[in-house]
Amino acid sequence: MNKLENTIDSDIAGPAPRHHTTQVKVGDVLVGGGAPIVVQSMTNTDTADIDGTIAQVAALARAGSEMVRITVDREEAAAAVPHIRDGLLKRGITTPLIGDFHYIGHKLLAAYPACAEALAKYRINPGNVGFKDKRDTQFADIIEIANKNSKPVRIGANWGSLDQELLTKLMDENAASANPRDVRAVTREAMVQSALLSAARAEELGMPKDRIILSAKVSAVQDLIAVYQDLASRSDYAIHLGLTEAGMGTKGIVASSAALGILLQQGIGDTIRISLTPEPGGDRTREVQVGQELLQTMGFRTFVPLVAACPGCGRTTSTTFQELARSIQDFIRDEMPNWKTKYPGVEELNVAVMGCIVNGPGESKHANIGISLPGTGEAPAAPVFVDGKKFRTLRGPTISADFKALVIDYIDQRYGEGAKAPVTAAE
Ligand code: SF4
Repeated sequence: MNKLENTIDSDIAGPAPRHHTTQVKVGDVLVGGGAPIVVQSMTNTDTADIDGTIAQVAALARAGSEMVRITVDREEAAAAVPHIRDGLLKRGITTPLIGDFHYIGHKLLAAYPACAEALAKYRINPGNVGFKDKRDTQFADIIEIANKNSKPVRIGANWGSLDQELLTKLMDENAASANPRDVRAVTREAMVQSALLSAARAEELGMPKDRIILSAKVSAVQDLIAVYQDLASRSDYAIHLGLTEAGMGTKGIVASSAALGILLQQGIGDTIRISLTPEPGGDRTREVQVGQELLQTMGFRTFVPLVAACPGCGRTTSTTFQELARSIQDFIRDEMPNWKTKYPGVEELNVAVMGCIVNGPGESKHANIGISLPGTGEAPAAPVFVDGKKFRTLRGPTISADFKALVIDYIDQRYGEGAKAPVTAAE
């Protein structure tokens, strides 16, 4: 067999089996143990701003965030948490709220029992839960409150706030060893140990394994992959994946997708968060959208109908197809929260918006509904394909609106109440 045949012979496509983890229930959401990979997000409002935080959690939940983390950094924030939860419930939003605690979590949870009760999970950073003698007692205080309220915790180590005592100990041991390791490798080991030792301590304190989720977030892609591979190979705790300080715009999206994509493909990760820095005035829900698209493009879950669009090239006569692709994509995403209940299964829909005859008809035929817009030198006509067959040809200045109307018709006929048959009307 030659090299090419050998490559073609490999017909296995898809991720490795999911790494076995213990399932954790966060509110009504299952994490790990083979449950669908959960998309979560975090607010950037001041939690003491009750209305502002309710509005942002609602927006994140509407965008599809299945859990939302809020920072609980001071007394005013802890006091606000139950009001935020109640305000959300009044709006019919039951998305679990996770409290993010640093330094004084033990005090806030003890002083504000309604906050401890309202949250569905507590996030503890083992690097700043306390220092020297206080570390153990303060960590124990949080675990005790979590146990009392039957709440799970995430033990989230972070490269930027790594347990310095542990790191120093490992560095000293490394320096004294006959074959010292690279400093970054020792730091990665400290990350993994920080998470695992804290989890073991939580279990000693009576917390069951099915209430512990681990994370070990790093900002460099290769370090992150190495840390999580190690974490997964050394334990079966449910795993929260995320690249910390991913950055802004395309940099953050590319870095997060590269790192998380590789780990998910290896079967590692039960819940993900994409830590994007929003553009000034930008939309916080972008991180939810990116998380969903990462899982959907990799075939792990379906959230919204996919719009396949060609990149355009010199054969494209106008920006019509770009505008149409954007308009269809935005329209679908905006409508999806309503469609989810009105059109069950609509998330499986595939739409194609193509720029010319080269790949347009072919790609459109693969979609449920697709349009091939006219390229340079082509007749000003846009054939529409439905379920692989030519359905109609659109012409004139209203092509975009006409195609959108056909998409809506298709969805209504295909996924609407009592009408599941494929669309069969012809040109
Ligand atoms: S389908 Fe046509 S316009 Fe789109 S990238 Fe291909 S050749 Fe270019």
